[in-house]
Amino acid sequence: MSTLNDIPGQATPKKILLGSLNSGKVASTYLFYGDDGVGKWRMALSLAALLNCEKPARDTEGKVIDACGICRNCRQIAGFNFPEMLFALPLPPHKNDKEYTELFLEFLRTKKAEPYHIVTGARQLTIPIDAAREIKRKCAIRPPAGLKRVVLFYQMEKMLQASADSLLKLIEEPPPETVIILTANSPGNLLPTLQSRSQKIRFAPVSQSEAVAYLIKRYRIPEEKAAIAARLGRGSIGKALNYMPLPTDPEQPESEEVSEAAETAISFRQKSFLMFKGLFSKDTPAALDTIDNLLKSNDRGDVERVLEQWQSFLGDMISAKYGNQAGIVNSDFVHDIDGFSAKIYDSDLFSRLTEEIKLTVLGLRRNTHPRLAIAALAIRMRRVINQSP
Ligand SMILES: [Zn+2]
Repeated sequence: MSTLNDIPGQATPKKILLGSLNSGKVASTYLFYGDDGVGKWRMALSLAALLNCEKPARDTEGKVIDACGICRNCRQIAGFNFPEMLFALPLPPHKNDKEYTELFLEFLRTKKAEPYHIVTGARQLTIPIDAAREIKRKCAIRPPAGLKRVVLFYQMEKMLQASADSLLKLIEEPPPETVIILTANSPGNLLPTLQSRSQKIRFAPVSQSEAVAYLIKRYRIPEEKAAIAARLGRGSIGKALNYMPLPTDPEQPESEEVSEAAETAISFRQKSFLMFKGLFSKDTPAALDTIDNLLKSNDRGDVERVLEQWQSFLGDMISAKYGNQAGIVNSDFVHDIDGFSAKIYDSDLFSRLTEEIKLTVLGLRRNTHPRLAIAALAIRMRRVINQSP
């Protein structure tokens, strides 16, 4: 699980990291950047394993090509109990140390079950200041001989200014035998000093075939279902997971609770589609009722997921309108989608609808009331739709 060659795609980051390892030029700070759910988390763990593996795999020239995955250090890293691997994670607000520890372990459990899972939440997530300070304190002590300490600051865009300050001090005076890994969606949002002091490595979207192979191998689902999920994920395995028919962990025996969760996920895309369908119905109160009844949640993450799916239905309507049948990703809804797109007479209206959704997603991030926000959006979208003759 934690070995480099198990990671789908990311040939360039793999090559860069192995290259620096074999030439003895490992940077003291790396910045892994790229979309959510493309493998930055797994690469960070793999790098930790490569730096600490007791018996790495080598090619005929003696160059390291991967960690072994089975020595004590490799196993501890994969199990998140390697004492020299430190994490600064984005967490929801918490009252005390006990709550912090619970949330921290919960985050790791989620990532252990599915490393591509994109952790979102109704509450705002931030990298706690205390975590950054604690890491700085731990880094003052040298790691035991023969071990490299790896510090992962995950999702830097969720870092508060005060945490960034302690991190900056850490990066400016790199502690001995320590590699710091920062991850971010886009380096542009980070302080210039952080950017200039780290080696930046870009993580590209994962190819359709690699994403499909991962989903099939891990979830044992039929290829056509994996293909739909991967297309909807658009290069992000983490996003593709939102469209999976069975989000169960194959290593766990199927319990009633698990299949219930699976059922919920199956119906999520269908529910989002029914809500979307409501936008095209005759009267507004009925449309709002449909949306509210199906949503049954005031969770920001849920509403964001619904809107992400609406964007994809809208994209399909545009494909349908311009005869690009091959471009339709939600092929199971193609009949309805054809019908909806026939109602839109002017292509400008498509961009207005897309814009409305985008604005609402941005509004949600500023903590608008999610349930009200989607209702208001539905009213605005219906106004645009009904402008067509
Ligand atoms: Zn090993």
